[in-house]
Amino acid sequence: MPTSGLEHRLESPSGVEIVNVGSVIVATGFKHFDPGRETQKYGYYEYDDVITLVDAEKMLKSGEFVRPSTGEKPKRICFIQCVGSRDRQIGNQWCSKVCCGIATKEAIEIKHLVPDCTVIVFYIDMRMYGFWEDELYWKAQEEYKVNYIRGIVSEVTKRGDTVVVKGEDTTMGRPMEVEMDMVILSVGMEPSDGTIAMAEAFNLPLECHGWIETIGGALNTVQTPVNGVFVAGAAAGPADLEDSISMGGAAAMKACAFVRRISLPTV
Ligand code: SF4
Repeated sequence: MPTSGLEHRLESPSGVEIVNVGSVIVATGFKHFDPGRETQKYGYYEYDDVITLVDAEKMLKSGEFVRPSTGEKPKRICFIQCVGSRDRQIGNQWCSKVCCGIATKEAIEIKHLVPDCTVIVFYIDMRMYGFWEDELYWKAQEEYKVNYIRGIVSEVTKRGDTVVVKGEDTTMGRPMEVEMDMVILSVGMEPSDGTIAMAEAFNLPLECHGWIETIGGALNTVQTPVNGVFVAGAAAGPADLEDSISMGGAAAMKACAFVRRISLPTV
């Protein structure tokens, strides 16, 4: 079956390989925002007890949740939402879609492991999609007594062996300063290095925020401007699991149809 739609140079440590394929699906995902960037004031690389959602997830999977600095169970923890998302100053003008849900899920898991721990979520506004509202957000507050405080954090510093979170309680309209044992940064999504590399390899234009551009509108979310190249999941912008799975299915069908079309004999 002739499938000479696209030619791609694959570079690896062992050399360059030319691959002829009928179609390509770019599914290179995202990378997490680096909270240690110069403009950030969260102390991620300075203080052991400041961690990210990803670090917290690893700890929760191990079944033990302790302060990295002491190995003891924490008494006060806070999450800081929207780290590296919804931020014009750093150029990330998007909501990363999943971090409110993941922080809330982790808050519940922390309360399971350390029931006496006070857990606070500092948020700009909580974005809980679909059933997450009921299954996570309300449950966290009503059953697990997780506290949600609308506020903007401006700085994280250290005092003695505690981490100090400074900012503004925007509901009350007053400055806030709280001492915590641990701070968890809800880092958002950015285009992955693989996404940028694939965009260069296939001459795929990027949309204005830096993700792979799609041109099919709401009814065809996987179509790129390059014939035969499709995109799925967070390579095209912030996406949750359901988005990624449905885009993956749609991209696979489009790719099969494209290969079939170019394989048909011309009359
Ligand atoms: S999902 Fe929540 S934490 Fe993540 S960027 Fe959106 S509003 Fe911020």
